[in-house]
Amino acid sequence: MNDPASFDPERSAPPGELAQLTPLVRRMLAGNASAMTYKGTNTYVVGHGEVSIIDPGPEDPRHIEALLDALNGERIAHILVTHTHRDHSPGARLLSEATGIPIHGCALPEPARMATPAEWTRFQSVHDQGYAPALILKDGECVQAGDHTLTVIATPGHTQNHLTFALQEESSLFSGDHVMGWSTTVIAPPDGNLKSYIASLEKLRRRSDRLYWPAHGGPVTDPQRLLRGLLQHRNARESAILNRLEAGDEDCATIVRNVYGNIGPALQGAASLSVLAHLEELVESGRIDTSGPGGLESRFFPKLLRKPPEN
Ligand SMILES: [Zn+2]
Repeated sequence: MNDPASFDPERSAPPGELAQLTPLVRRMLAGNASAMTYKGTNTYVVGHGEVSIIDPGPEDPRHIEALLDALNGERIAHILVTHTHRDHSPGARLLSEATGIPIHGCALPEPARMATPAEWTRFQSVHDQGYAPALILKDGECVQAGDHTLTVIATPGHTQNHLTFALQEESSLFSGDHVMGWSTTVIAPPDGNLKSYIASLEKLRRRSDRLYWPAHGGPVTDPQRLLRGLLQHRNARESAILNRLEAGDEDCATIVRNVYGNIGPALQGAASLSVLAHLEELVESGRIDTSGPGGLESRFFPKLLRKPPEN
């Protein structure tokens, strides 16, 4: 499969098979398909002979074994990690233990704001607590091996520590969970921050990468168009949420019901947190007011709603 434009995720290679996508990019799907991970996590192999591995995936020894079998003696130069959600980084530890190659990746997990106790529990449950990089990569740094050069681009928003990697030789970008074709990215406080996410989308708009390789689903062949669409989508959602506040909705659950309609229980939690991310951004920018304990339990009010003067 050498023409990314004709890439069909429905017909992509099954988990455990290493598929050649472009001269420098190969991909192995992990067997962790779900409502949140789509077909599963994409582990990318960049280069030939001396390779860089991006996102070795979940804690799944079979996936790592299959990857090492398929590499058949090629030397791993770098083990790279976009962020520490459990479907991305735990495999890095397995791969590092199996090969002795240290992990070079994103920073340790850290919430984007102070977390309530319940939020802290959730935060810990979604992040890889065993993540231990030998080197934390910084924005603008270059990672080089054999026939390829990757530039680190920090893209906080989905998580505070999220990185993407630009492949210079093919003018493409490994976009992690920051930009994906199959679904919009989940921005879930206190992990995610909408303002950072928007700034990271704008950052990619200023670049000219012609193709994105997301951590879930097939490639994005017109990234600039998708970035514009994602920004429009967030603006539309913000307007819808502001309209619901004007209509008297005060809490996340009610707004989710009225904005998203009937979504399945699997997506309910993600939708609530996504609405909360918008509400927190609106509070931060001084456009709405809030009261209550913080997080999903808070109440929110439009600023313009003032009691009319009594005559
Ligand atoms: Zn993620």
